[in-house]
Amino acid sequence: MLKRSIAAIALSCVAALAVTGCNDEKRNEHKMTVVHGKTMGTFYTVNVTGGFKGGEEALKKLSDDTFNRICDIISTFDKNAELAKVNEYHDTKPYEISRELGKIIQETVYQGRRIDGATDISVGPLVNLWGFGKDKKKNQAPTSEEIQETLKLVGLDKFEIRTDSEKSYLVKHNENVRLDLATVGEGLGADALCRKLIELGYTDFMVSVAGASRSYGVNSKGLKWRLGVEDPTTPERKVLFPICALDKAVTTAGSYRNFFKDDKTGTVYSHAIDPKTGYPVSHHTLSVTVISDSAFESDALDTGLLVLGADKALEFGEKNNIPIATVEYENGKTVIRHTNNFKKYIDCAKNIK
Ligand code: FAD
Repeated sequence: MLKRSIAAIALSCVAALAVTGCNDEKRNEHKMTVVHGKTMGTFYTVNVTGGFKGGEEALKKLSDDTFNRICDIISTFDKNAELAKVNEYHDTKPYEISRELGKIIQETVYQGRRIDGATDISVGPLVNLWGFGKDKKKNQAPTSEEIQETLKLVGLDKFEIRTDSEKSYLVKHNENVRLDLATVGEGLGADALCRKLIELGYTDFMVSVAGASRSYGVNSKGLKWRLGVEDPTTPERKVLFPICALDKAVTTAGSYRNFFKDDKTGTVYSHAIDPKTGYPVSHHTLSVTVISDSAFESDALDTGLLVLGADKALEFGEKNNIPIATVEYENGKTVIRHTNNFKKYIDCAKNIK
């Protein structure tokens, strides 16, 4: 199984790296603290223009602590994490959960309902059935009987959150319901670290957790942060087109990085699963990029919009005034489409020399 996370390439860093020579004097003007690390089975990069108090070590610690705290709540890969324990609870009686997990579940369900349940966190059993969960190791598609059986556990109506003045509870309407919050993990991480950096008084920084990024202010060159939307048609990481982030969150969901090829049929299956059919997406839309005020919101929408495909994703974006871009691959051609309000992010990047 080939797994490399999607990432909008932070052009600012690349640009900075590319012109390192002349940047040394400039960098002295715009000192940068840059750290890289691993979290959520993927990677992150944090850039702070003007430098971070305490340097790389302090910034790395803040980043790791922030992401680890989220992993402790929503990971299904760590058996000690709260959500992993929820998934091991096989009963329909209410199960007490933290306020924070309750809120994350409710808000992800809300975003899923906005797109007809295409983002559905009860896909957990399907994710495992297709081998994209903790157990991995799949080189053959499950049988249609297995998929139909597993679909009985999937649907936003298969569980609910109940809260009283003090506590929150998850109620499973089938004891084998399993939740999967992987689709929002990176967005939650990017938002949480941004909040911390703002609380500490920083105004110019970029946080990227694989396919989710948030940025504010300017980069080392004193210019607006730019991101590259990846070309999903090439195995190597290549920028298809650059955009400015303009102090917004940008996330991309794609079917081209996390997939496996069925040994018998040669069919390629990606990790974006349609909760209605139980099958991974198989249409021509390879990636969906969403821009919004919160990386959580974009991340909760991008996977479901990828499941729905480019036409419906762009229609949703126009109707809800959410900037969205899609990349499709058909008859050997790469087709980029975007909502009208996405144009300013592309134009801005074009104007930055
Ligand atoms: P996104 O599009 O953002 O999310 C895709 C993921 O969402 C799929 O992998 C699947 O899990 C789920 N999904 C698929 N279809 C749907 C749907 N229709 N609705 C809702 N959800 C759907 N991976 C490891 O290999 N090792 C680890 O230790 C590890 N730890 C993790 C810890 C945390 C806290 C999280 C959140 C994820 C972890 N992962 C780990 C998973 C891994 O990083 C995921 O592949 C990644 O989160 C998916 O992000 P993405 O941007 O690639 O895809």
